[in-house]
Amino acid sequence: MKTDYHMHFEYGDYDENWVKGFFDAAKARGVEELGITEHSHTFPEFEELYYEDLILDDSFIGKFQKSWLKKNKFKHTIKDYFDFMAKLKEKYPVKIGIEVCNFQNQDKVKKILENYDFDYIIGSVHFLDGWAYDSSEIKSEWDRRDLRDIYEIYTKEVENLAASGLYDVLGHPFNIRLFKYIPSFDVTPYLKRVAKALKNADMTADINTGTLYRYPIAEISPYPDFMKIAKEENLTVMTSSDAHKPEDAGNYIDDAIKYAKSFGFTETVTFNKRKKILNKI
Ligand SMILES: [Zn+2]
Ligand SMILES: [Zn+2]
Repeated sequence: MKTDYHMHFEYGDYDENWVKGFFDAAKARGVEELGITEHSHTFPEFEELYYEDLILDDSFIGKFQKSWLKKNKFKHTIKDYFDFMAKLKEKYPVKIGIEVCNFQNQDKVKKILENYDFDYIIGSVHFLDGWAYDSSEIKSEWDRRDLRDIYEIYTKEVENLAASGLYDVLGHPFNIRLFKYIPSFDVTPYLKRVAKALKNADMTADINTGTLYRYPIAEISPYPDFMKIAKEENLTVMTSSDAHKPEDAGNYIDDAIKYAKSFGFTETVTFNKRKKILNKI
């Protein structure tokens, strides 16, 4: 079964004409089921958490992130999202997910999420000590950082997400390679820690093609070294495009499936009301 389980409507509105493009593009690529995973920064329920966690001072990063939080964020309530998705479910094979950033206060996240009946919940590391490391506008910050620290913080953040027990999926594992800052030291211990954390929390690894077509690294996440360890740990995987535009829905899903198979995976997962379903590929 061909599925695309990670994408965002946020560049448009909750408007059936806008989202139709995602379903049309995915269908044209033979994708049989979609999962929509709006970012937690779409919803005012999460706003406070961003102000608690992000660097928002007068530094280079702080200034950018302050303006980032004011742009196209917190515009729909989670209830609006569910109402809109209920309409889509009548027309399309689609599931309701969410991609939640790696907040420090997981109790607060839990209190928000427990009110809603999501099909699945992705946890993604988007911030390293309050820095949005994947934003190209503040990319030069990478030159000021120590790569070992980055790998250590990234791994710790995944361990925190896993320990909370709130998440079904880790989004785009090890996308910290996105701007091609490649370590010269051995990262195997970090790969193993992340795989173990996912295994213990029964979390699925998101095979995400977004880093293939949207970032300089131009590779599917997670990269091969992690895929090998994921297979050794017997992790489950899902496939996704991380589309932000209609025409990208289903993008490179065939490649993601081929990629998964090349490491020995024979199934990808879908979800229904937090229940994991295995599908042959
Ligand atoms: Zn993400
Ligand atoms: Zn995403």
